[in-house]
Amino acid sequence: MFVKFNSKTMSNYKIGWAGLGNMGTPMVNNLLKAGYPVQVYNRTREKEKEAIDAGATSAADLAQLATDNEVIMVMVSDDAAAKEIFTGENGLLAGNATGKLFINVSTVASETSKFLDESCREKGAGFMEAPVSGSVKPAQDGTLIMLVGGTEDAHQKAKPILDVLGKLTVHTGPVGAGAAAKLAINYFLGLNLQGLAETVLFAKANGVRTEDMLTIINEGAVGSGITKLKSASILKNEYPAAFALKHLAKDLRLAKEQGLNTPLSSPLYDSFKQAQAGGLGDDDVMAIYKYLDK
Ligand code: NAP
Repeated sequence: MFVKFNSKTMSNYKIGWAGLGNMGTPMVNNLLKAGYPVQVYNRTREKEKEAIDAGATSAADLAQLATDNEVIMVMVSDDAAAKEIFTGENGLLAGNATGKLFINVSTVASETSKFLDESCREKGAGFMEAPVSGSVKPAQDGTLIMLVGGTEDAHQKAKPILDVLGKLTVHTGPVGAGAAAKLAINYFLGLNLQGLAETVLFAKANGVRTEDMLTIINEGAVGSGITKLKSASILKNEYPAAFALKHLAKDLRLAKEQGLNTPLSSPLYDSFKQAQAGGLGDDDVMAIYKYLDK
């Protein structure tokens, strides 16, 4: 079913938000600061407190979140969680979804995105994917990069909201393209983190101090936003999760399942998978250093 949205400006719309983890909470804060009325729902209800304290209201359940709002955004862990949130017995689509726009900002496979799109269409609702590039700090600062997949109509209607959350929106194509772009950029992220850890550990094994090696990397052409951002964790050997390692292991698995078969992809995935199996899943992605330092 083709869904045509109401022509009033989306920036007046009430927003429903499901999923208040590391990313969801600061993103909701920015929407509230921008003046949007936001109603939230999180499976573990205590985690709604920060958003409610900042001015959000709380929905009784997911069906109410869909019924009460015009744009409903979802930021949860993975494909299974997103499917449950949308199509579970008490999920969003059990509410009055007709004419609403649903935006999934979680990282999932392209196939999952297409399934969510189809499920929304069956209920007379619109769907768009907008997974995000950037971690907690860009989420707090409203400087994420939004990787949109969906119709141009949906993109234009959502743009004022996306502009609050991010510094840049790239419309990558139809539903599925945004998810593919997100898996691709996270493959590159994984390569960077693994490369940084291996490089520093190789230097250390040959007598180079870690702080010196990080300075050499960060002051030279190979230094990057991510090497600079993660250097402090390596130096302190502390890895509180900004982006949990288990989520990157998930993204590498999804990329493999979606056809990534380049020379480094399998060893990279194995490395993160084993780090997760070794108990580092809830630590930050940079804990790959701790896993390799043995
Ligand atoms: P997180 O802190 O682990 O939070 C996960 C959220 O998903 C929580 O609200 C959790 O609810 C909810 N959830 C999980 N399973 C659920 C289920 N079956 N039903 C309902 N809710 C469920 O994750 P995050 O770091 O915010 O990441 C969220 C998404 O963004 C992931 O897809 C991740 O790959 C992606 N992402 C993360 C980053 C980052 O730097 N963190 C950056 C870009 C993209 P509970 O509170 O009840 O557990």
